[in-house]
Amino acid sequence: MSADYVISPPPQPTIAVAGSSKVFPVRRIWCVGRNYIEHIREMGQDERLPPFCFAKPADAVVADGSTVPYPSLTKDMHHEVELVVALKSGGRNIPVAKANDCIWGYGVGIDLTRRDLQIASRDLKRPWEIGKAFDHSAPCGPLKPVSEVGHPTKGKITLKCNGKIRQDGDLNQLIWNVPEIISNLSEMVELVAGDIIMTGTPSGVAATVAGDKLECEVEGVGKLTVTIGSPLK
Ligand code: MN
Repeated sequence: MSADYVISPPPQPTIAVAGSSKVFPVRRIWCVGRNYIEHIREMGQDERLPPFCFAKPADAVVADGSTVPYPSLTKDMHHEVELVVALKSGGRNIPVAKANDCIWGYGVGIDLTRRDLQIASRDLKRPWEIGKAFDHSAPCGPLKPVSEVGHPTKGKITLKCNGKIRQDGDLNQLIWNVPEIISNLSEMVELVAGDIIMTGTPSGVAATVAGDKLECEVEGVGKLTVTIGSPLK
């Protein structure tokens, strides 16, 4: 029996599944920070420190082919192309050796970042939400199931802006690999079916502005194209 809500419940955020009319329901979006060494170097951070996690709201997902409104308050929005992992199950304290069993499939996404606000928060030792967890901050391309793509551990991960390569990495450069990310996260929170994980970005992050066409690809996994639009009025 459904609950007797006092207002209409918000819609369930979803991500498309490649070649299917079915969709993947998103529960939470976890993100890994500083998971590629060349990105840590370009950000001027201590490369000996381990990666870490933060989150975006589930309704920050944006579908492939969409126009993303340029967000408020920033003068420096950056693109971060990332491998997306979608979970079909979860748990707490998941061993690395069992982590792949939790994965439904994979895709490619962008961790859009208001870099000026993120850095301001970081410098003030404040939380990152205003820099990272804003509306429309998580474009995600169609997911493909493990039955089609296996568990990719290498392959190019790229982002082109207006046809020009900006980010060009390889999944084999991940500091924490995907099973290690899942295991680590599951020590901090219980992971549940519907959770997705953005696994960190390779180097080449840069500003993106209204009118830019961003084309992302993870070799063998999928593609994502979005356009940056004008700010919402
Ligand atoms: Mn990121």
